[in-house]
Amino acid sequence: MSQFDIIVIGAGPGGYAAALLASQRGKTVALIEKEHLGGTCLNWGCIPTKLYLGATAHLEGLHAQSRLRLCSGTINMDMAALKKRKSAFVSATHKAMGCCLEKHGVTLILGRARLSGAKAVTVDDRELTFGNLVIATGSSPNWFPGMEPDHSRILDSTDLLDLEEAPESLAVIGAGAIGLEMADFWHRLGTQIHVIEAAPRIAPAEDEEIAQTLHGMLKRKKWNIVTGKRVAGLVNEGDAVLVRLEDGAEIRAAKTLVAVGRKPNTAGLCLDQAGVALSGPGWISTDEFLRAAPDIYAVGDVNGRTLLAHAAEHQGHYAVRHALGETSAPYEPGPMPGCIYGSIEVMRAGSTAAELQVAGRPVAVSRANLGANPISQAHGQAQGLVKAVWSDGVLHGVSAVGHGASHLVTLAEIMVRDGWTVETVHQHIFAHPTLDEALRDALVAPQEAL
Ligand code: FAD
Repeated sequence: MSQFDIIVIGAGPGGYAAALLASQRGKTVALIEKEHLGGTCLNWGCIPTKLYLGATAHLEGLHAQSRLRLCSGTINMDMAALKKRKSAFVSATHKAMGCCLEKHGVTLILGRARLSGAKAVTVDDRELTFGNLVIATGSSPNWFPGMEPDHSRILDSTDLLDLEEAPESLAVIGAGAIGLEMADFWHRLGTQIHVIEAAPRIAPAEDEEIAQTLHGMLKRKKWNIVTGKRVAGLVNEGDAVLVRLEDGAEIRAAKTLVAVGRKPNTAGLCLDQAGVALSGPGWISTDEFLRAAPDIYAVGDVNGRTLLAHAAEHQGHYAVRHALGETSAPYEPGPMPGCIYGSIEVMRAGSTAAELQVAGRPVAVSRANLGANPISQAHGQAQGLVKAVWSDGVLHGVSAVGHGASHLVTLAEIMVRDGWTVETVHQHIFAHPTLDEALRDALVAPQEAL
């Protein structure tokens, strides 16, 4: 068959979700993938990084307990075994995803797709026509001039997941979620970490107070953190990389990770064939219904809206529901949850205080430190805080930093989405002892108007 109700390009979280939902609705569906099922998320992103962080979490936990003089000794990670486990898990998931597609009658086509008309896609020499097209081709690691990865010492996030052993030192350029999570993993294996961030603070997308707290906590782990300085260039010296900063300072490290953002996978898609417009380095422009052209949707990283797997999945579902007439409302994701994982985690759902202020709204904040929380204390990692952001008495955002903070994200998202007030908090019981109690404490704490 070469005519499909819905064709999806890209089998990452966005495309896979779209293809499965469309087939469950009884549509004929083709899913085209040039590499591996699962996209960035499964193969080089969320999943391998969390497998690595999960496997080494006990090292950090035992360190915390040994600082309390409750245990001592050494544990060595077997990096080769960990890589093997990661590969086995990823392969098993490929198989499970393939079976699920087959079971639901999705036609999986392996190859590189391009548009060949307003209603046609070509894979190799085969032309397929569609009723609706969902473009979900994702993104790839970005770099700036002078930082091009050589994939040996100057690495991107994909390369770093493939290292056989812990480098003696690692310079991470870019202190967003990807850079910080990867740095944390290698820190646990004994690597000396240098972080260089051009913005005035690390985790620049997060609340300033949360980011500053994180900074302080990472400094206590002896990370060398440089903020507000650009990297002028990288020199591969053979046994190390020299990172030259714009002010002339230099940092030497065994390996360098370039984690300065992502770029869209739109090259070679021939999007002009269907009049699809691009912005910036090639992000697909979409309207309020995630449409890039009549009958063509663009979801996930490739539209540049929110570069997170759950955002891609949510958009993939929306695009199919809109195409099938199940919804006519504009796409509205609500308070986007997001986390930075690791020994010290950051989570956010909804707005920061600064974002609300820019929007011209009255803003108040309330906080609770994790120090008083019994679960944080039990883990021996009680630094950090939860911060709530209010406008006119209604909760608009929650951010947190500290051990296990990511566990708060879904509850916080629901609270913000449902417009909780302090009264709503009093109507709920929070189980004891849980980290959720710190969230409750932040919400009922006195509010400070900004
Ligand atoms: P992708 O997952 O990038 O998938 C796109 C797919 O399209 C790929 O399989 C690609 O091969 C295919 N493709 C591209 N062009 C073509 C073509 N022409 N023809 C056929 N196929 C094509 N997000 C989170 O929410 N939580 C996390 O913890 C998290 N951690 C991350 C850690 C790292 C190191 C990285 C790099 C990313 C992380 N992300 C995380 C981001 C997340 O991986 C992405 O937001 C998500 O994968 C985007 O999904 P997508 O479907 O839009 O695209």
